[in-house]
Amino acid sequence: MHDKTVAELSRDLAEGRVSSVELTQHFLDRIEARDGELNSFITVTADQALADARAADERRQRGDATPWTGIPFAHKDIFCTEGVRTTCGSRMLENFVPPYNATVSQRFRDAGAVCLGKTNMDEFAMGSSTESSYFGATTNPWGENRVPGGSSGGSAAAVAARLVPAATATDTGGSIRQPAAMCGITGLKPTYGRVSRYGMIAFASSLDQGGTMARSAEDNALMLNVMAGFDPRDSTSLDREVPDYTASLNEPLKGLRIGLPKEYFTEQLDPAMEKAVRDAIREYEALGATVKDISLPHANLAIAAYYVIAPAEASANLSRFDGVRYGYRCDNPKDLLDMYTRTRAEGFGSEVKRRILVGTYALSAGYYDAYYLKAQKVRRLIQQDFIDAFREVDVIMSPTTPSPAFVKGEKTDDPVTMYLEDIFTISTNLAGLPAMSLPAGQVDGMPVGLQIIGNYFDEARLLNAAHQFQQATDWHRLAPEG
Ligand code: GLN
Repeated sequence: MHDKTVAELSRDLAEGRVSSVELTQHFLDRIEARDGELNSFITVTADQALADARAADERRQRGDATPWTGIPFAHKDIFCTEGVRTTCGSRMLENFVPPYNATVSQRFRDAGAVCLGKTNMDEFAMGSSTESSYFGATTNPWGENRVPGGSSGGSAAAVAARLVPAATATDTGGSIRQPAAMCGITGLKPTYGRVSRYGMIAFASSLDQGGTMARSAEDNALMLNVMAGFDPRDSTSLDREVPDYTASLNEPLKGLRIGLPKEYFTEQLDPAMEKAVRDAIREYEALGATVKDISLPHANLAIAAYYVIAPAEASANLSRFDGVRYGYRCDNPKDLLDMYTRTRAEGFGSEVKRRILVGTYALSAGYYDAYYLKAQKVRRLIQQDFIDAFREVDVIMSPTTPSPAFVKGEKTDDPVTMYLEDIFTISTNLAGLPAMSLPAGQVDGMPVGLQIIGNYFDEARLLNAAHQFQQATDWHRLAPEG
């Protein structure tokens, strides 16, 4: 049962081969059996899930089911869920129970999907390994001592280990694509503004975007059908028609123009990774696509620009955690200032503090022009590189990560090497473009991800390209042991 995709489970439910209660119990049993070792969940909501599953079965009886009615899934613990604690991987929100649903959470509820719980993540989504979670690190199901990537490592590990068929995630600099690549699953970061950020705890507001994780491109399309769309509660949400993302999955790829940025295929890339990615691209040529070398001349500036802009926005967003309004408050403060400072000193972990310090510095008078404003100008150049490239090609392909999943602890003492994890993913957030990662090979038994970047609002084309590849290959079907 757990090897089936959302599309298959949806058909099984529709044709009465299984009930939502049975499905939900099955996946809850798998979480119970496997998650002690993986730690992919922060909170499991078994009772509520079974109640929701019963309601879903009744709704189906009444004849008003959607493709998601009764399907189990999980939310990254960054999406507010009414009545269910939402921690963002932080001690600061360890006991925070939101009084409302994020728009994304509400849309899945309205569709009748059954949320099994909240998945582990780097604290406030800052990280690339899910090791900065206050609730302990998540393990990659493909290798005991390997990280699952981050920050959405809990969602990626849970989907890869078949503890849920699908999970939500967010991507500020690579947090959907990088863990998807490292766990051998398929993930999509939509165009900025496509999915509502309302109720999605903010890290860097101009970069954060909610998206999808599942094993197949088709399942990602089904998820995006639920998540995408205008939301008047999010001022950066875009009022644009939402297509049925499953409708174009079967379009042939003949004539698809693929660009390969020379800046992404350098000596720094692990040769075995490069081979896997080039083999995947040859598969695309066999499917009728044409390949062309392109250039993104400002690619080497992306990490530097991101690590000014993202911390700057984070320092502003995280100022709300002051011990007054919600979340953690230190014990016995001696006065107001003591309460603010100790609350923040005790409530935040070290990576979050580092970002607040960097961001506050970059925004302070005297440094604003030298750092923040300069980074925003670089951001514009990076965006222009993509606009120019998309005049010549339809999609851009590259590896998702420079190397496969690394060993736990390997990069925790060196933030800069950790930051370099996102070297291929971060530019698309700066530009606001959609991008996917899909399994495209293995190196030493660990999954390799192929990244496909699209033009604005080209999610359907990305999903189509990924689906066609998955019709022709089996990488996305490989499962880790257990
Ligand atoms: N790894 C990057 C960071 O630490 C991106 C994280 C993300 O996309 N949320 O900021």
